[in-house]
Amino acid sequence: MGEPLFQTTFCITTYGCQMNKHDAERVAGMLEGQGCLPVGTYEEADIVVFMTCCVREAADVRLMGQVASMKNLPLRKGSSTGKRVVAVGGCIGQRDGEKLAQQLPHIDVVFGTYNLQSLPRLIASSFEDSKHHIEVLDGPAGFSTDLPSDREKPWAAWLPIIVGCDNFCSYCIVPSVRGREKSRPLEDVIEEAKGYVASGVKEITLLGQNVNSYGRDLYGQPRFYDVLEKIDSTGIARLRFATSHPKDLTQEVIGAFGALPSLMPAIHLPIQSGSNRILSAMNRGYTQEHYLGLIEALKTAAPGIALSTDVIVGFPGESESDFEQTCKVIEEVGYTQVFTFIYSRREGTPAAKMHDETPPEVVQERFDRLVAIVQRQAWAQNQKDVGTVVEVLVEGASKRNPQLITGKSPKNQTVHAKFPDGACDLTGSFVKVAVKEAKTWYLLGDIVDGGAYGRP
Ligand code: SAM
Ligand code: SF4
Repeated sequence: MGEPLFQTTFCITTYGCQMNKHDAERVAGMLEGQGCLPVGTYEEADIVVFMTCCVREAADVRLMGQVASMKNLPLRKGSSTGKRVVAVGGCIGQRDGEKLAQQLPHIDVVFGTYNLQSLPRLIASSFEDSKHHIEVLDGPAGFSTDLPSDREKPWAAWLPIIVGCDNFCSYCIVPSVRGREKSRPLEDVIEEAKGYVASGVKEITLLGQNVNSYGRDLYGQPRFYDVLEKIDSTGIARLRFATSHPKDLTQEVIGAFGALPSLMPAIHLPIQSGSNRILSAMNRGYTQEHYLGLIEALKTAAPGIALSTDVIVGFPGESESDFEQTCKVIEEVGYTQVFTFIYSRREGTPAAKMHDETPPEVVQERFDRLVAIVQRQAWAQNQKDVGTVVEVLVEGASKRNPQLITGKSPKNQTVHAKFPDGACDLTGSFVKVAVKEAKTWYLLGDIVDGGAYGRP
């Protein structure tokens, strides 16, 4: 790296999916590489970066409000930069480019999903003059994994294996802001994973809009199973992935659960709707029956596997009967977690042109009904672990009660346990917890005595 372009304080706000959070870690890594210091508030920051999401309208609205509030914020006391640079990146930056700076003239820098690496240069130019510095590319210049990173959790790493999406679900804006699928060469992925293992990382989560498609653009056929197998053999303690599209989930990948020791017994498999009519209108490429077949196969390959999903309520034309089919499937599968979304019309997507006659209050009532089912189910699934001992990767002290440690089980449940007398900081290490009680969203227990706390 050459001479630093600037050295000051920065603050990043991130919206949306794990890919965006991962991009934000890269942005933090680059700014720290310039000698900048991360700070916790906008007031203390000379550089404010928003990593944005445009999947649903609510994220757009929230961003506009927050960026607008920057306008009258006084400069940091003792700042020598003479101005605060406001930079907007991620999916909204990619989608709106120039338009953003017209809407909110006090934005200084706009960058897109393909050019994180341009940000330090754009910020440096912005400190030099009062112009807008806007740079949005039409396609990827490289993988952001080539950039430095400041990981939020030093013991866990996100590893993007494929970016973009070729699926074109009719409601979704992602393909137009993240582009076509582009896989990273297998050797690069394995190299990065080996580096993480060597530096003491305990958990790797492979990222992609549809990880099952991995390799199709490079090798003519998907090679996701190869990625799992090869990363498992690096000696990583825990391996996870997100997200898996049901139409592309193969029997080989299903068989990896229970066969590859590091692959944790949890899968996020978005269903979106239980109605075949709606699934077809969504262009999802599978039926309810196919989806339930996958669930059966997963439960056979890895009994007790934790299942999570995404559901959209109120897709254009969804009838009461369509919605009831969704509820029935959700009841039948037994999920530990369901992310429920009210359909959000996204300009430019095929669904935006579909006739939508369901009144918002009906959609809200369906949504509330579904949330009640989801909560009952999550509670019931967690009860199954009471009386068992689970291995927990500790994330630190509980925010609500510092006497408790908090961490994640193999099934990705949040686990709280009493901090053992005399133990040193357990963050990033494994402990065994005897589960005494289960709530809707977490397990409670005691650290099992007798063992060494943590392992290399
Ligand atoms: N690629 C992943 C997949 O297909 O499962 C998910 C990516 S998307 C960022 C995450 C979730 O947002 C989707 O699974 C879907 O449930 C939801 N989503 C996407 N577009 C939406 C829209 N227009 N309205 C409401 N929810 C939406
Ligand atoms: Fe969007 Fe569908 Fe691609 Fe997921 S698979 S990112 S929902 S288009």
